[in-house]
Amino acid sequence: AMRLVLPLFVFGMLINQIQQSEASARRIREILAVQPSIRDEPDAIVLTKPPQRIEFDKVSFTYPGRDRTITNISFAMAPGQMIGVVGPTGAGKSTLVKLLLRYYQPGSGEILVDGAPVHRIDMESYRRQVGYVSQDAFLFFGTVAENIALGAPEASREAIEEAASIAGAHEFITSLPQGYETPVGERGLKLSGGQRQRISLARAVLRDPPLLVLDEATSAVDTRTEALIQENLRTFRNRRMTLAVAHRLSTVRASDTILVLVDGVVVEHGTHESLVAQNGAYANLWAVQSGEATQNNGTGGH
Ligand code: ATP
Repeated sequence: AMRLVLPLFVFGMLINQIQQSEASARRIREILAVQPSIRDEPDAIVLTKPPQRIEFDKVSFTYPGRDRTITNISFAMAPGQMIGVVGPTGAGKSTLVKLLLRYYQPGSGEILVDGAPVHRIDMESYRRQVGYVSQDAFLFFGTVAENIALGAPEASREAIEEAASIAGAHEFITSLPQGYETPVGERGLKLSGGQRQRISLARAVLRDPPLLVLDEATSAVDTRTEALIQENLRTFRNRRMTLAVAHRLSTVRASDTILVLVDGVVVEHGTHESLVAQNGAYANLWAVQSGEATQNNGTGGH
C-alpha cells in the first residue's frame, strides 16, 4: 500500500505546522522524499475544468530492476462511474493508483485525461481535480475540524460536519472530549486507524473532487460502519469518477466495473454480479468473504 504519500496541494498548508512539531517536520520530509520526480514540461497542459474521461490504454509499468509489475492494463472512467480494483497482495493495485496519480510514468501505453497523456498535464492543475485517500491516513497537528478542512480552508462548519457525516465520522467526533475542536495528530489525541481513515475520507468529500481515488481507504473500519459509508457515498459518487482499491470485496461491490488484478494482469473484469456468475477467481474470493462476514457479524450480505 502507499505510505507517506500526500498530495502536493497540502504541503503549503502544512508548512506553518513544521515549526510547531519536529516529529511533523520529519514526517513531511519523509513524504517529500517519496515523491518521485516527474517534472512538468515547459508547455504542460493546464486543466481548467473537471476531466470528462480518464483512460488507461494498454498501460505497462516496471520498477527499476524488478519484474514487470503492471501489464497491459486498459479501462476508462467517466463522471458518475466507479472502477473497483481487487486482487491479492503484491498484485500491483497501489502501483496502478500511483500511475493514475502521476507519481510514475508508464513504461508503455498511455494514461489519457480527456485525450491528453497525463504526464503532459500540469501537475498542480491535475492534483486539484483529485481527492486521494490512502490506507494510512495522515493527520497533522490541529483540531479535527482543521484536519477535515485541509484543502478547503473556506469551508463552513456546517459543510465540515456534513462531510464528516458522509464519511461515517460525525458520531465518533461528537463523542470526543472537545468534539470537532479536539486536537489530533502528532501531539494531539490518538485516534484509531479506522477513525483516522474516516477523517481523511471526510477531507476528500469536503473538497468535492471530480476524481476520487480510494486506496484501502476504509480498510480499518468495521464492516457494519463501512456498509453505512458505502451507502452514504452512493449519491456523492454520482457526480464524479471514483477509483477504489480494496481487499474487502464489499467495498467495491457497487462499482460499474471491477478489475481483478493478479500479478499485474487483469484476469477478470465486470460487475459484481457478472463476476460472481463467471465462477472464477472473484467468485471464489466472494464465496470466502461473504461466508466469513455472515459467520462473524452478518453484514457481508448476499
Ligand atoms: P498490497 O495489497 O499488499 O498493498 P498491491 O496490490 O497494492 O499490494 P503494489 O504495492 O502495487 O501491490 O506492489 C506490486 C509489486 O511491485 C510488488 O511486487 C512490490 O514488491 C513491487 N513494488 C511496489 N513498490 C515498489 C517500489 N517502490 N520499488 C520496487 N518495487 C516495488
